[in-house]
Amino acid sequence: MAGINTCTCTCEGGGEKVILLFPCSGASNVGQLTNQAAIELTREGVGKMYCLAGIGGRLEGFINTAKGADAVVAIDGCPAACARATLEGAGVPIHHYFMVTEMGIKKTHTFDLKPEDIALVCRRVKEALTST
Ligand code: SF4
Repeated sequence: MAGINTCTCTCEGGGEKVILLFPCSGASNVGQLTNQAAIELTREGVGKMYCLAGIGGRLEGFINTAKGADAVVAIDGCPAACARATLEGAGVPIHHYFMVTEMGIKKTHTFDLKPEDIALVCRRVKEALTST
């Protein structure tokens, strides 16, 4: 079984790759869906959830770790695209990008997270990572 911050299932050459997950973790259902999906993907060993706030705060150690990852995955809740803007603003390249509202989930401020919506976000991320 893959370690919590590595992916050994699809990587060429069988080497372990560091895949960092950056959810926007915003104050809405779709923002919190990104957060919960990142937690579950981390628990499954698909990648490792990492601190977007450290990147936004321009903390050198966080930025260097992100730049050194094999893959950076940004997951935004809505078109404001805060995770993408934060990473791009710090010069961190994004290898995989997702937006929850583009998956057909409407943004609300209820914080009502449906298990099927969390599963959809996780599935989209896993599909993208296994197809590369
Ligand atoms: S991308 Fe949307 S949901 Fe996420 S933090 Fe920004 S405004 Fe909030």
